[in-house]
Amino acid sequence: MRIEDGRLIIDGHLCDELAKEFGTPLYVLSENRIRHNYRAFQEALARIYPNVLVCPAYKANWHLAVARIYQMEGAGAEVVSPAELKLALESEVEPEKIVYNGPLKKFEDLEFAISSSVGLINADSFSELKKMQEAARRVRKPCNTGIRVNLGMRAETHPHLATALREHKFGIWLGDAITAYTLAAKNPDLSVIGIHSHIGSNITQSQVFSEMSASMFRLVGQINDATGLKITKIDMGGGLGSSYQVESSAMTYEEYAAAILSQNMLTLRQLGEPTLVFEPGRAIVADAGILLTRVDVAKRQGDINWAIVDAGMNTFLRPALYQAKHHVVAANRASEPRTVSFNLGGPCCESGDVIAKGIISPMLKEGDLLAVLHVGAYGFSMASNYNGQPRPAVVLITGTKSELIRRRETYEEMIAGEMIPSHLSKQF
Ligand code: PLP
Repeated sequence: MRIEDGRLIIDGHLCDELAKEFGTPLYVLSENRIRHNYRAFQEALARIYPNVLVCPAYKANWHLAVARIYQMEGAGAEVVSPAELKLALESEVEPEKIVYNGPLKKFEDLEFAISSSVGLINADSFSELKKMQEAARRVRKPCNTGIRVNLGMRAETHPHLATALREHKFGIWLGDAITAYTLAAKNPDLSVIGIHSHIGSNITQSQVFSEMSASMFRLVGQINDATGLKITKIDMGGGLGSSYQVESSAMTYEEYAAAILSQNMLTLRQLGEPTLVFEPGRAIVADAGILLTRVDVAKRQGDINWAIVDAGMNTFLRPALYQAKHHVVAANRASEPRTVSFNLGGPCCESGDVIAKGIISPMLKEGDLLAVLHVGAYGFSMASNYNGQPRPAVVLITGTKSELIRRRETYEEMIAGEMIPSHLSKQF
């Protein structure tokens, strides 16, 4: 991104031209950045330990075009629903490279995943292990089974993004892991090959990743010894943070790779050099996206300057859900001195519908264009129709081209699933 004559440019494209052509609110994704990030992430790990499979988490960004970019880069996929699985298969991701996670998988979802030969399905509970066995028997195919283990590990992040403490709903508790593997090993319909943990998201400190990997590899040794199984896929989850604020710094990919691998090379050799699976979400796509939004109303309320913009919690939920702070740039006046504090409110009838608080910008006017940075992950994928707002359009920038990869929703699309019972239908 750069600024020319006061106008913000992303990958050679003027933001105000994009907004004019495609309207606002508008997500803009950079194909170059996604590819660059994916390769850099994969290579940072593979330089230390070659047997690595990167499965980007579709929940962070599930556009078909993005899934296709990952597939072309040779990536696998981490999916948590039948729709995400279909997206991966439609994008021609090899089923062997797909990991199916999530705290709830319906019986028919498991049948679909097993019959599609998904490479690893991670059970989240004892009862899910049983369901997996029944589904495998029903579709007459073995289930490539892993178990998500809750390691009891505190990650320094927003409380909604931590996932591996005893009070959290995820996985099978560490103390029960050997029992779970012993039970699963006895079951001929389960091909028990994997283990999974995801300790949380947006983690910026390396220490917890070192502790997590040591704990996982130790546990794999214990499982192999206790059950006679050979775990060949160790799924380390996602979680690497992103620098959402320009002045904050997340770990580099190299620091992340070193935290997970450097102390453990001997152990990995002793474990028979299993495949290490990684499920990065925001580490790959967060900084590949910006959100363009127009100031529709500028007003002063008491001593606070408000700009009411056309992107709200319905467009971009992270600020309301996690109190996330994202850098905002006045895209059409990016070189002007920033002297005034503004709150950016969205169109929804909620006091919490605030995209950013206290940003320092030029004196904003109605019609100004703003760019919210680092929104490529958990941006569009969390958008909703709250307050009857359509989900926004999404543009992919590739070299000199800018193409819609998702058109703005119409009223007809928003209500397509609605039905009126006969006793309520209009009387003509
Ligand atoms: N894997 C699992 C199981 C997750 O739940 C998540 C996020 O919730 C991810 C991977 C991706 O996390 P992140 O975007 O922090 O890398």
